[in-house]
Amino acid sequence: MKRILDENPAKKHLLLLVLIFGLLLASFVTGCQPETKSTPKVELLPEAQTEPAPSPIVEPSPTPSLINVRSVTTQADFPQSLTFNLEVESNSEITDIELRYKIKKVTMAVVTTTIKPDFTPANRVGTSWIWDTRKASLPPGAEIEYSWVIKNATGDRLKTEPARLIFDDSRYQWQELVMGKVRLFWHQGDQSFGQQLMDAAQAALGKLARDTGAELEKQAKIYVYADSQDLHGALVFPQEWTGGVAFPEYGVIAIGISPSNLAWGKRTVAHELAHMVIHQVTFNPYSDLPTWLDEGLAMYAEGDLRKDLEGMLTQAISANTLFSVRSLGSGFPAEFKDAGLAYAESYSLVKFLIDNYGSEKMLNLLQVFKQGSGYDDALLTVYGFDIDGLDDLWRASFGLRYRPVTWFQTSLLDLALAFTVVYSPKAAGLA
Ligand SMILES: [Zn+2]
Repeated sequence: MKRILDENPAKKHLLLLVLIFGLLLASFVTGCQPETKSTPKVELLPEAQTEPAPSPIVEPSPTPSLINVRSVTTQADFPQSLTFNLEVESNSEITDIELRYKIKKVTMAVVTTTIKPDFTPANRVGTSWIWDTRKASLPPGAEIEYSWVIKNATGDRLKTEPARLIFDDSRYQWQELVMGKVRLFWHQGDQSFGQQLMDAAQAALGKLARDTGAELEKQAKIYVYADSQDLHGALVFPQEWTGGVAFPEYGVIAIGISPSNLAWGKRTVAHELAHMVIHQVTFNPYSDLPTWLDEGLAMYAEGDLRKDLEGMLTQAISANTLFSVRSLGSGFPAEFKDAGLAYAESYSLVKFLIDNYGSEKMLNLLQVFKQGSGYDDALLTVYGFDIDGLDDLWRASFGLRYRPVTWFQTSLLDLALAFTVVYSPKAAGLA
């Protein structure tokens, strides 16, 4: 070919011209095509089709429509109520509105509650729902997650992004200290006041970790009110003598401590924080701890036994009027003096177990309780004795031999056990 073209320059030029012309013609035809076809298409479009296409969310509704949330707000009136507000509009009538919320709890399964607030169906709707938080006994610092679900007459549905709020006691200006997993808030007293309470909290955590192996697994928030009256204003149903209260499932502790009552305050912070640690370590849906163990560990975390309680214990030992360990398993006496002895005994029992059997066995006991074990079974598994066995050994450490029948031992079982000890010491293993 090369040779032919070289030999015929006229033919070569002709071929090149044909090639260039062909290319020009092709590009002209291609370039013209879209323009000639698109122009009549725009003119022929019906008016309705020029509107924005419906978004994929609203399909397959035949008529396009949208739901637009104008505002989502909340108002807290601590501790009485929490108000949720919604303003929403749509180009078709809004027919259904739901508020869904859940309370964030440390250990419990989270339950979502659905509320249908009142409203009149319309294209533009404003609605509110007031939650009577007194019924839920929400503590300060409780965390709530919520979202709104809105439907319109065309069948569209919109769910707002989950929003999170903290039910804070906004009546006060809180100061805050954070150390490890502990957040401490107080609204009266200087920095040193807060620091000393934080130090007490950390000391309690250290003592518990060292002597029982139990540690805080999740965050704890401690709200320190100015005094017990101030605290009572934050509690829905306070007991008369409540100086501090733990809400373990919320990870919240509320205590009334005046700067002039710091020594008591440090003990109470340690006590309530210990309850939270024990709750986190042993939580299970089947069973709880015997009261003497729960309260005993909290008393133990405070440090040495309070002098007044020590006096009650010494007196009960010398008069042989101790409550039985079994009677301290579920609840304490309501009367102040008896409650004092119950707390003192609980401290003594926990100290007895730790001093004689070590911290490893105590942690082991807590782990067994976490599996939902009964009181007797847990002690038998870890220590090889049951509740009455513990009672006998503990009493023997004070030189006491048998358990007398007290007003507290009302069940037939307790009576039978007590008589066994009194009349057949051999059968009770005491002879
Ligand atoms: Zn307690």
